[in-house]
Amino acid sequence: MTRQVRRRRVAFALVALLSVGVLHGAAWTPIAGATAATALPLPVDTRVPGGVALLDLGTAVDPPGLVYFGAYRVPVVHDGASWKAVVGIPLATPPGPQVARLVTPTPDDTDVELPFEVAPKSYAEQRLTVEPRKVDPLPQDLERIEAESARSEAALSTYSDDLFPTWRWQAPVAGKRSSSFGLRRVFNDQPRNPHSGMDIAAATGTPIRSPAAGRVVEAGDFFFNGATVFVDHGQGVLTMYCHLSRIDVKVGEAVKAGQTLGLVGATGRVTGPHLHWGVAVNRALVDPALFLSQAEPATGQ
Ligand code: ZN
Repeated sequence: MTRQVRRRRVAFALVALLSVGVLHGAAWTPIAGATAATALPLPVDTRVPGGVALLDLGTAVDPPGLVYFGAYRVPVVHDGASWKAVVGIPLATPPGPQVARLVTPTPDDTDVELPFEVAPKSYAEQRLTVEPRKVDPLPQDLERIEAESARSEAALSTYSDDLFPTWRWQAPVAGKRSSSFGLRRVFNDQPRNPHSGMDIAAATGTPIRSPAAGRVVEAGDFFFNGATVFVDHGQGVLTMYCHLSRIDVKVGEAVKAGQTLGLVGATGRVTGPHLHWGVAVNRALVDPALFLSQAEPATGQ
């Protein structure tokens, strides 16, 4: 079968889809009761590195198809008005044109390109001093770090068709955001990966509540992230909670919105107790602030 890639507007493709029928039934259940008047709130459309792009896929009755950005499947949701692809944009994405891909359920398996523009965003630098071994790991640490990196990658790459996320949440811990997403980080004078989550200052022992229902896909003690829990909310949306003093859930456990996942702590590479909260969409770690139900201004760095 020849896979054709055509540059054309999605609207034209959707006209062709009207006669095709339902694809992948259960994975595409629209939100019950949602109408144009009660549109499902989605994350804030912010087309920058570390943001999300909401790409309109039209108003056809049937789901438009599967969407991919790079190698990863993108969540597709009906918000009450139209189908949308919610594309997570990795922090390392260069500004400029990007293309997601809609694989339509046509007999010739045609792809439709979904072009969008990523605007530049410069993030400030943050310098931190931590235990030297957490910046220059000892040889015996490296094997552990590699194994944990694979576990983390597997967790963040999960795509569950049987779970459906909500998209606007309460923060998992009430508290001051002590560090913002995207900061370029320099530990002990050495540059490291940018900060890919939100830090919320809270005392050790503060309960961490899952902002949405889901399933625990990974949990354990990680070299850099300390005691960590990963929750799968479905459709490629995952959240992670790091530096915990206690984990209260088990891998495979279903969790409800508001359920305690564990307690705030200071394990791993930290300068003090806080929650590091990460949000992944199609494997990209994006700014958790875009998912908060109320805009809460950051109070410091
Ligand atoms: Zn952090």
